[in-house]
Amino acid sequence: MLGKVIGEESDYAESWEIADHADGMSIVADGPMAGLTLTQIVARYPEALLGRQSGICQFPLLIKFLDANDWLSLQVHPNDALAKNYNARENGKTEAWVILHAEPGSQICAGLKNGVTSEQLKSAVLAGHPEDLLNMVSVKPGDCVFVPAGTVHALGPGIVLAEVQQQSNLTFRLHDWGRLDTNGKPRPLHLQESLDCTDFHRGPVQPVQPKVQTSGSGSWEDLVRCPYFMIRRHRVESRVMLDDRNEFRILMTLSGKGTLQTSTGQQVMEKGTTILVPACSKAVQVIPETSVTLLEIFGPGHDA
Ligand SMILES: [Zn+2]
Repeated sequence: MLGKVIGEESDYAESWEIADHADGMSIVADGPMAGLTLTQIVARYPEALLGRQSGICQFPLLIKFLDANDWLSLQVHPNDALAKNYNARENGKTEAWVILHAEPGSQICAGLKNGVTSEQLKSAVLAGHPEDLLNMVSVKPGDCVFVPAGTVHALGPGIVLAEVQQQSNLTFRLHDWGRLDTNGKPRPLHLQESLDCTDFHRGPVQPVQPKVQTSGSGSWEDLVRCPYFMIRRHRVESRVMLDDRNEFRILMTLSGKGTLQTSTGQQVMEKGTTILVPACSKAVQVIPETSVTLLEIFGPGHDA
């Protein structure tokens, strides 16, 4: 669906598109810096890559495509403060999903039902049936769900999505639906950590309801603005110049085909491509061949 080259295993579920993490690292694909890691670029060219956000030593966002072929584990992620208790090198994980494909009837779990307590969740998990406490949501292509750290969540089967999250790989698993891994063993659960990291005030979560804005070249809508990232979705019908900002942007093409043109070069944009555009790029233009849907993702500092 996304044109990714995959290996011979049977159960690939994630593509890490942009990563600066001990568990996965992006490497520059082409140009004079081809072969450098994202960590090296952040260290050597902070101004050029990060602009006004320079001064950090790790790229702030982890960008993925996820392909859920079965229920993924019921899980929760810590916030920044709690994450450091478990691993001093880790960050909290606030994330957001943009659904690309959902088979009819596809569901996610997004948050707990109102009023669920830690004791109730614990006993339901120990009894092996937390389902009645979970907020289940039917999703369709185009939906965006914002999942701040502390929100209990799970993805159901038949869903492919783009994920924007903090640079973190810290997940606590509450429940795994009784499933076994490829070696026939249950995966470890982290009940106490999960309860400690869950925000019991968060309640049920619904897809965001963005306001579409039209422009001469198509339309756009802001899906999420939070302290960690901002996600804007564009539908580009004709050539558009993206606004000039002194910060990086990530462009994920979700449908259609076109060209990204900047003052220093060109890149093909087609479904499944993710491009990190450094802060130093000027005159960033999207030139569509067919109508292009893309996510424009910015780093920290865009709170609503
Ligand atoms: Zn998650």
